[in-house]
Amino acid sequence: MSTVQLRGMRKSFPSRSGEVEVLKGIDVTVEDGEFLAILGPSGCGKSTLLRLISGLELATGGSVSIDGTDVTGTAPEKRQLAMVFQNYALFPHLNVQENILFGLKSRGADKQLRSERLTEAAGLLGLDELLERKPSELSGGQRQRVALGRALVSGQRLVLMDEPLSNLDAKLRAEMRVELKRIQRRIGLTIIYVTHDQVEAMTMADRVLMMSEGRVEQLAAPEEIYSTPATTTVGRFIGSPP
Ligand code: ADP
Ligand code: MG
Repeated sequence: MSTVQLRGMRKSFPSRSGEVEVLKGIDVTVEDGEFLAILGPSGCGKSTLLRLISGLELATGGSVSIDGTDVTGTAPEKRQLAMVFQNYALFPHLNVQENILFGLKSRGADKQLRSERLTEAAGLLGLDELLERKPSELSGGQRQRVALGRALVSGQRLVLMDEPLSNLDAKLRAEMRVELKRIQRRIGLTIIYVTHDQVEAMTMADRVLMMSEGRVEQLAAPEEIYSTPATTTVGRFIGSPP
């Protein structure tokens, strides 16, 4: 099981003129096994919302529950989730295998478990031949797979992703969209996926949370967002008349 409930999430940052509220009350329930895309223009608060779910940032108001447990004030490492970032955050001096297993090892997982998880993830991601290579010897797509591998071996069913494909060229991005969707279905992961790219959101997500200026504009299946945009802002963003 991996469900996420956000209730009235608010976040303000200090600014020169006092405070600026970048999230203005976000409510959403993410179902077990769902692929939810958070879509919206740059600066609308997508990454901040994801950081509140991960615990990297603490909310000014509202609550976060994971699997029915309130984790609003819980430290990131104590939340049952894995993260994949835009820049992959791989260790340059470690090889692929060491990068994938770093988290598991530092949490004291035994050798047999590590080896099982590695074999499974490497097979799924097509990394078997690359385990000894350093990140500098990999293509962008391969690095992305390693970052994904690290999330998969963690054994977490909830994975948060912040623009994980944005550093890839168009062809690789298209391939990885298909790949990621296949892996998500196969393992039954719950994925919350931040993007400003509507093609990514519309092709991968079960539902899309459209954001603008710290608010939810619409939360619906991709087809519905296309056919029935809830507001002029949504209509303008996806390029069809509201
Ligand atoms: P997005 O991911 O949708 O591009 P962000 O969540 O990164 O948007 O940012 C939303 C707004 O919050 C932006 O105006 C950004 O400048 C501001 N912001 C984000 N993080 C901080 C921070 N640590 N301190 C001050 N302002 C921030
Ligand atoms: Mg962002």
